[in-house]
Amino acid sequence: MSKRVYNFNPGPAILPLPVLEEAQRDLLDFKGSGMSVLEVSHRGKAYEELHNETETLFKELLGAPADYRVLFMGGGASAQFALVPMNFLPAGAVADYILTGSFAEKAFEEAARVGEVHSAASSKATHYDRIPRPDEIQLSPDAAYVHITSNNTIFGTQWPVLPEFPGVPLVADMSSDILSRPFDVSKFGLIYAGAQKNLGPSGVTVVLISPEMLAKVNKNLPVIFQYTTYAKNNSLYNTPATFAVYIVNLVLKWLKANGGLAAMEQRNREKAALIYDALDASGGFYKGHAAKEFRSLMNVTFRLPGEELEAAFVSEAKQLDLIGLKGHRSVGGMRASIYNAMPVEGCRALADFMRDFAKRNG
Ligand code: PMP
Repeated sequence: MSKRVYNFNPGPAILPLPVLEEAQRDLLDFKGSGMSVLEVSHRGKAYEELHNETETLFKELLGAPADYRVLFMGGGASAQFALVPMNFLPAGAVADYILTGSFAEKAFEEAARVGEVHSAASSKATHYDRIPRPDEIQLSPDAAYVHITSNNTIFGTQWPVLPEFPGVPLVADMSSDILSRPFDVSKFGLIYAGAQKNLGPSGVTVVLISPEMLAKVNKNLPVIFQYTTYAKNNSLYNTPATFAVYIVNLVLKWLKANGGLAAMEQRNREKAALIYDALDASGGFYKGHAAKEFRSLMNVTFRLPGEELEAAFVSEAKQLDLIGLKGHRSVGGMRASIYNAMPVEGCRALADFMRDFAKRNG
């Protein structure tokens, strides 16, 4: 078998090895068709079965209400930043955004191009090191929706408990923690996630939408931008990213076989604790970016004493096949992305290396 490293990249990111192996086995002959899944028609039975099964599995894993719809869309989570206000922010209304990081800001800025927006809370003043407390959140009266980012990929913070705002539709960008823990989907009007972190490869964005939200879609948009077009046509109005959906299907099956979301959460907590414990026991050598209470279980961000040591850390880690640890330029330092597919052994290897590096350089 070819060499595999521990891939800590933020996205595209590590995929479960059994998924890659299965995709490799299937590649030349998908379901006995004599064609690869890359080649079959999106209108054919073989693909359509896979497509429908993927929707059903996604809902099943999340425990989504039966009348919610799963949509496969293009343009990444970034397209959703625009589509959400285009569909749900009519003239005269205001949409609330809780600003917890760069992607929340981008979503907010994009919505501001469409209509009136309000920053209901922001942790920008402390360089997005935390999630605003409930008493800091000031919603506008009759907001069209509230938008949150459940996990902040760049800063390494995560809502420890997802918020609820009774009476206001809740929209969430869950790109970097979807399917990493159970939560009550029925509290959300719309959830979206680019697949390339916890779901599969880049190329497809998975959207889960309630019937109430579908009923509110702006009918004056070009049809390709209306969520209802995807719902009515089972995401087959245009050609979906068939190969990406296929890999998502395999990832969902892998998740189910490995105990579903409750088991994922337990494993994710165990994995994150290995790294945060190494950080906390380093006597200040490593400094976490996120306030403890809001530490992400998906992206662990930390700094070392000085950029030279940080560069040495990255290059020594690479020698040990620990790849993709350099943090985003806006935070600096390190970021270990430890999505569902990262095995416990990868986190243990990183924690061991952190202890060893601190001993030699502290
Ligand atoms: N939201 C979050 C939370 C992300 O982490 C990312 C990608 N890193 C995006 C949005 C943007 O996603 P895309 O590149 O799929 O548009």
